[in-house]
Amino acid sequence: MKLILASKNAHKAKEMQAILGEGVELITQDAAGCGGLDVVEDGSTFEENSIKKAVTIMQATGLPTIADDSGLCVDALDGRPGIFTARFAGEDATDDRNIQKLLTELQNVEADKRSARFVCVIALAIPGEEPKTFRGECEGRILTEKHGENGFGYDPVFYLPQFDASMAQVSADEKNSVSHRFNALKLLKEYLD
Ligand code: IMP
Repeated sequence: MKLILASKNAHKAKEMQAILGEGVELITQDAAGCGGLDVVEDGSTFEENSIKKAVTIMQATGLPTIADDSGLCVDALDGRPGIFTARFAGEDATDDRNIQKLLTELQNVEADKRSARFVCVIALAIPGEEPKTFRGECEGRILTEKHGENGFGYDPVFYLPQFDASMAQVSADEKNSVSHRFNALKLLKEYLD
C-alpha cells in the first residue's frame, strides 16, 4: 500500500521505509507535491502534534498519510523537554546547544536519577476515518558527557543499557532494533498487516 509521509526529512523517510518493508511504499510530502505545506506544531502532546501533521497532509493529498512526532522525556526534569525537545535551547537551537542545556540542568543529578526515554508517536490519517496513533518508547539514561559520533540529536548523551553504550556509539542497525521510532513503526505495521 502507498502511504504519504508528512515530513520533509529524507533521512527519516529512508529509515522508516527500511523498517516498514516492501508491503508499504512511503512517499514523502515533497514527492506528493505538498513540499510547501508547513504545519505549526502547537499541540500539547506528541499525539496532538502528530495527528495535526498527518491530517493536514492527508486533506491536501486525499491519500492515507502518516506523521511522527518525537522527543526526549527526562524523569529528573518532570518529563521535560518532551514536545519541546527540538527547541530546548531556543528557537534557533542546535544539537550541541540542546545537549549543553540538558547537561547543565542535570549537573547535580546522581547517575541513578538520570533515567529518561525517547518517545515517538506516529499518527495514521486515512480519508473518512478517525486518525489513529501508535506510541513507541526507548528507555535509557542521560550521560554526563558526549560519547560517540553516530546518529543525530541527543544520541551522544543517551545511554542504552542493553548495549552498554551511548546511542551514538552503536551502529544504525543496532539503534533501529531498539529505538522509539522502531517500536512505534512496529505497532503501525502490525495494524496495517
Ligand atoms: P522530531 O520531531 O522527530 O523531528 O524530533 C524532535 C527532536 O527530538 C529532534 O530535534 C531530536 O533532537 C530529538 N530526537 C528525536 N529522535 C531522536 C533520536 O533518535 N536520537 C536523538 N535525538 C532524537
